[in-house]
Amino acid sequence: MRYTFGPVNSRRFGLSLGIDLSPDQKSCNFDCVYCELSGAKPTDKISNPPKVKEVIKEVKESLCKFPDIKVITITSNGEPTLYEHLDELVNGLNKIKEDKKLLILTNSSTICDEKVQKALLKIDIVKFSLDCASTKCFKKIDRPLKGIDITDITKCMVEFSNIFTNTLIVEILVVKGINDNKKEMREIYQVLKDIKPHRVDIGTIDRPPAYKVEAVDEKKLEELSHCFDNIAISLIRKNIPDKKENFSKEEILNLLSHRPQSEWDIEYFFSEDSKKILEKLLFDHKIIKEDIAGVAFYTTP
Ligand code: SF4
Repeated sequence: MRYTFGPVNSRRFGLSLGIDLSPDQKSCNFDCVYCELSGAKPTDKISNPPKVKEVIKEVKESLCKFPDIKVITITSNGEPTLYEHLDELVNGLNKIKEDKKLLILTNSSTICDEKVQKALLKIDIVKFSLDCASTKCFKKIDRPLKGIDITDITKCMVEFSNIFTNTLIVEILVVKGINDNKKEMREIYQVLKDIKPHRVDIGTIDRPPAYKVEAVDEKKLEELSHCFDNIAISLIRKNIPDKKENFSKEEILNLLSHRPQSEWDIEYFFSEDSKKILEKLLFDHKIIKEDIAGVAFYTTP
C-alpha cells in the first residue's frame, strides 16, 4: 500500500486507517519546531500528489481487510489540505466509508480558503491545530510560510465553526519555553470561546522533534489545562500518578460543572470510592456521559 497505513489504535479516535497524501516527501506550509518529520522549507504544494481513484482503491481494500476500523484519517507527510483534489477525495471517501467516521488532521493554515472549507464541511471530525494565538509565538513555534497570518487563521476558524455541523476538535501542542505559559494559553482560550470546539486535546512532544526543543512535564500540562474553563479537555498523558483523589458528591458536581472530565481523568485521579459516587450520580441522571469523537466525558447536563 502506498497511500494508506495502519490501522493504528489511537487512544483519542479509536482504530484508525491513515491516508497519506504526500508519501514521497514532506509537503507542509509550516516547519514546526516539534515536527516529528525532519525540518524542511515550507511549501504550499504537495509534490507528486496521488490520483483520487488510487487512494480510494487502497482505502476500499483496507476496509475489506480490517472491518473493525472506526475512523479513516486524512493526514499527510505534511499538511493534507494542500492536496488539490481534497473535495473530490472527501466525496469519494464518503461514498465508501459506510459506518466509519472520516477525520482530517489539519494545521488550520488553509481554513480561509473557500475550497478547503467546502471539503471540510463534509468531514465527520475536523481536528485543527492551534499552538498559539499571538503572532510572535506562532512564528516561533510553527514557522509558517511567508504571508500566513495567525490572526486571519483564527478569524476563519471561528467563521468555519459557525457553519460546521459535525465534530470539531482543537489540538494544542505545548513546547517548553515557547507556549508553556498562562499568557499564551489565555490568548488561545479567548479564541476557543468563539470557536466552541467539542473537545480540546492538549499534549506535548513525545517523538524526536525536528529542532532542538523540549517537552513539558505532565504537571505543567495539567496546570495549563486550568486556563480553559468549561471546555472538554483531553490531556495526552503517559504516566499514571500514584496518588488518587477522594471527592465527595458535591465536589464532583462542582468539578464537572466547571470542567468536564474525560474517562482518562477519572481513571487517573479518582479513587475507587470517588468512582462509585460518580457512577451513582450518573445512574441518578445528575451527570451525563457523552462521547466526543471517541473520548468519553463526564459532565453536568
Ligand atoms: S504542521 Fe504538522 S507536518 Fe507541518 S511542520 Fe507542523 S507538525 Fe510537521
